[in-house]
Amino acid sequence: MASSSVKVAVRVRPFNSREMNRGAKCVIQMQDKSTCIINPKQPKEAPKNFTFDYSYWSHSSEEDPSFASQRKVYQDIGEEMLLHAFEGYNVCIFAYGQTGAGKSYTMMGKQDPGQQGIIPQMCEDLFRQTADNTDPDLSFSVEVSYMEIYCERVRDLLNPKSRGALRVREHPIMGPYVEDLSKMAVTNYSDIADLMDTGNKASTCIYSGFLSSVQVSKISLVDLAGSERADSSGAKGMRLKEGANINKSLTTLGKVISALADMHGSKKRRSDFIPYRDSVLTWLLRENLGGNSRTAMIAALSPADINYEEILSTLRYADRAK
Ligand code: ADP
Repeated sequence: MASSSVKVAVRVRPFNSREMNRGAKCVIQMQDKSTCIINPKQPKEAPKNFTFDYSYWSHSSEEDPSFASQRKVYQDIGEEMLLHAFEGYNVCIFAYGQTGAGKSYTMMGKQDPGQQGIIPQMCEDLFRQTADNTDPDLSFSVEVSYMEIYCERVRDLLNPKSRGALRVREHPIMGPYVEDLSKMAVTNYSDIADLMDTGNKASTCIYSGFLSSVQVSKISLVDLAGSERADSSGAKGMRLKEGANINKSLTTLGKVISALADMHGSKKRRSDFIPYRDSVLTWLLRENLGGNSRTAMIAALSPADINYEEILSTLRYADRAK
């Protein structure tokens, strides 16, 4: 078993117009792998310091030598995970953070040159590498599925006509899966591009690619619900239920990731203690998180003092995953 199962990155974006209009100040500083945050209400208090595998400074412009571009993030994280998929591992990359912090930008990005996120770059790389294969004993096929988990219910985003939630079942060998979930064979990225819209999703979305050669590797790319929605305080009725359910996915994911990190670290926890079953998200990702798998998490951060509490809670969540 490899030394560390989870690669953890944080990324801070530029100010948005709302933050600019409010004269926001940047509370994040980064140097190499370390990220520190200054409490705007207690500027004399010592900054809180965190260390991650990658601390990405995307708060400035491309001209800044310390600026982390979409390309850089893909080269560090996407390329490594794709390599693991070709080696036969199941891989999972997920983005965590409050709404507007940059999860979709990091995962999907934009169409403009240099603005594409991990998913399009990874798909293009995947098809390029399978096309370049000259080994006659190897043939690859790629299938994708695309689902949304909302209030612990799974919806097939490739089949809008499928009404209602799909059943989650367990295969004795392949593990948990979604019954009747569409899988589409694809041969290039433009096949996939139409299926993915960058619009605001209500909840967590999972893009899965199955790469088959001799063995099958599953690549799961997860755009999580905004972490602030985990806080259901003040919400009533449906909002409360929604918040509690999102909370369940995100807190269970946090627990699973940190239990896995402990298992690989000094605490040597046993794998049967990992609470995969506590949420649909973690149950479905079981084969992508534990066992024969590699996981990367990117925590997206707003830079602004007005979001201090959310930024700190995102940093703590990311810190527990190490
Ligand atoms: P989320 O998915 O977390 O809700 P988005 O990815 O939609 O947030 O980001 C919110 C806005 O900030 C978008 O307009 C996006 O283009 C912009 N943005 C986010 N991260 C970056 C970044 N690293 N560089 C430039 N713009 C960014």
